[in-house]
Amino acid sequence: MSATIIDGKKVSKDITDELRKEVAELHSKGVVPGLAVVLVGENPASKKYVGSKEKMCESLGIKSLGHKIPETTTQEELIRLIDTLNSDPSVHGILVQLPLPKHLDEKAVMHRIAPEKDVDGFGPDALGRLVLDEPGFLPCTPHGCIKLLDAYGIDPKGKHAVVVGRSVIVGKPISLLLLRKHATVTICHSRTPDLKETCLNADILCAAVGKAEMIKGDWVKEGAAVIDIGINVTSEGKLVGDVEFATAKERAGFITPVPGGVGPMTIAMLMYNTVEAAKFASNNK
Ligand code: NDP
Repeated sequence: MSATIIDGKKVSKDITDELRKEVAELHSKGVVPGLAVVLVGENPASKKYVGSKEKMCESLGIKSLGHKIPETTTQEELIRLIDTLNSDPSVHGILVQLPLPKHLDEKAVMHRIAPEKDVDGFGPDALGRLVLDEPGFLPCTPHGCIKLLDAYGIDPKGKHAVVVGRSVIVGKPISLLLLRKHATVTICHSRTPDLKETCLNADILCAAVGKAEMIKGDWVKEGAAVIDIGINVTSEGKLVGDVEFATAKERAGFITPVPGGVGPMTIAMLMYNTVEAAKFASNNK
């Protein structure tokens, strides 16, 4: 039997439609949510992502404040820009598009963003709160994955969730969110010896590796929910995930396609965090 395809476009649209109403309400109180988007250099993929984020801001009534700065920007200049944005009351959220050029220290930049404006949720305050189960900004892609499970009535409670990948921006936070929802979580990485067997035990399988179709269809347990976070471009220029979709969908109960699965959720959750930041700032004026 073929899996139910998890439609990230639809779920993200439902979320952004709700946000549009919340933004209109904020406008009526004189508050215009503002998102500062910092792009350093000319990385084509980064430019594309920033363009999509700016377009979405516009469609929701969020003011997008673009800061496109040259590749040669120094660490000090970038930190100075972050400080300026931190103290600008019209800026509710700050997003620094990653990766940064090699000469810049990404971690130091993430640490510099004021916690109340860290809408990407990559800073130590947001990640610490995630570990502590305290309210705070959740990293957008992992949060989006959880929203997809929610939308399709997939409750992680008591299930075995396997996350392949342990990055700070995807693998670790999604594991913590699944744990928060009472799943039993196994985190795999490049040194995991029995990856196929572990994946075959997953009721919920999340793939965040960055290797085209590495997880084969016969690694998927019958009826499992498969969340494919990977974005890979093949040598033929095709966009594919980390899971071999065509074969995996014949065994899974639910599966996200690439594109059209997790991808649209990331932007939706960024907008969600920005609106939350604006609400927080207006309540604490
Ligand atoms: P990273 O490169 O930071 O992490 C990859 C992880 O995969 C690492 O933990 C690594 O293990 C693990 N890994 C690598 N090779 C293997 C292997 N052979 N077997 C098991 N584990 C392996 O990537 P990200 O987490 O940043 O991104 C993962 C994917 O998600 C990428 O394709 C990225 O483009 C995509 N992505 C998609 C987003 C979206 O909006 N849909 C947003 C962010 C990312 P180790 O730690 O041991 O090196």
